[in-house]
Amino acid sequence: MTPVLTNDFARQWAEIGVDVLSAVERVGRSGWYVLGREVAEFEADLAAFWGAEHAVGLANGMDAIEIALRTLRCGPGDFVLTTPLSAFATTLAILRVGAVPVFVDTDEYGLIDLARCYDLLRKRRDIRYFVPVHLYGHALDRGGLEWLRDEFHLKIVEDCAQSAGALWRGQPTGAVGQAAATSFYPTKNLGAMGDGGALLTADPQLAARARALRSYGETERYRHEELGYNSRLDEVQATLLRQACLPRLDQWIARRRAIAAAYHEGIRNREIGLPGAPAGSESSWHLFPIHVAPERRAEMLEHLKAAGIAAGIHYPTAIPDQPAMGQARFELADDCELARQICASEVSLPIHPYLTDDEVDRVLDAVNTFARVTLTQRAG
Ligand SMILES: *Cc1c(COP(=O)(O)O)cnc(C)c1O
Repeated sequence: MTPVLTNDFARQWAEIGVDVLSAVERVGRSGWYVLGREVAEFEADLAAFWGAEHAVGLANGMDAIEIALRTLRCGPGDFVLTTPLSAFATTLAILRVGAVPVFVDTDEYGLIDLARCYDLLRKRRDIRYFVPVHLYGHALDRGGLEWLRDEFHLKIVEDCAQSAGALWRGQPTGAVGQAAATSFYPTKNLGAMGDGGALLTADPQLAARARALRSYGETERYRHEELGYNSRLDEVQATLLRQACLPRLDQWIARRRAIAAAYHEGIRNREIGLPGAPAGSESSWHLFPIHVAPERRAEMLEHLKAAGIAAGIHYPTAIPDQPAMGQARFELADDCELARQICASEVSLPIHPYLTDDEVDRVLDAVNTFARVTLTQRAG
């Protein structure tokens, strides 16, 4: 029985390998490896895909959030509203610019609760920055984000690391914030063969600042206007993203959506909670979360493993509860109870584009037999 993997890079290579090799060969022949034509062309294609004016290729998604915050002049003493349920990188980027994250609880989908944000921002006029996350590939309510931005004059960096291809009522994520950040870490919907990331913005000045910041803050040759980074996307990653991955992204996301639909249709088990996606979100299904009772989660993971199915947890620990946060200054706006419940009960089912229909059926079968099998075992 072949294992059902969380991501199947061998199958991906079988599909894209030829295109990757020809792209790499072109870079090799060009003799130009960093910040050349391939990065510029990929940036143009990426901006077109997102419907953004400008894309700036960077070394990774966390840098993209940090550099976006820097372009918006977020720094020491600033407060940044954000979510307790995300990759640690979201909060780490905020801490690295010297700002103070303020955590607001999520809703039942795992997305930061915009109504709670509204209540907090009414009381806390000193919060001027916001880093929302389109978690699992679910688009946050675009109108809600716009309302918060305008009502409280917020500077927003949307964390779109998981939301390439996600739509809110037909519109891509990332356009409400002054800037957005995405990641090309291999497991993401648009993944490179190594690290990469990008900043997206409609503002040419922010794009220009990000281009300077990614290269030591250099605005013209050997002139450094501010303290920047070394955070460049290289030509090889840019070329394989552009030639081998981006043209296939819509088709990959369509497959993820079909698998999500099959899971929603086929999961029939009272032990399993199916949160689904918010009504206006056409999710890109970066992850497919289900919920089980916390005291039975380990059993569930064992049960899937026995059926040859890899599953994940996103995420086992709320960010403010991470040990490293003991070294950081942060605030909890509320008890973050829902986020902590999700941390205790979430299981991510495999949902990559190379799953076959048979494998989807195997996942369904394993999920649907979960309680029955364990109850029988107990009876026996
Ligand atoms: C992956 C991810 C990041 C960080 O991206 P890297 O490229 O790994 O630095 C940030 N936020 C979210 C929500 C992510 O999933």
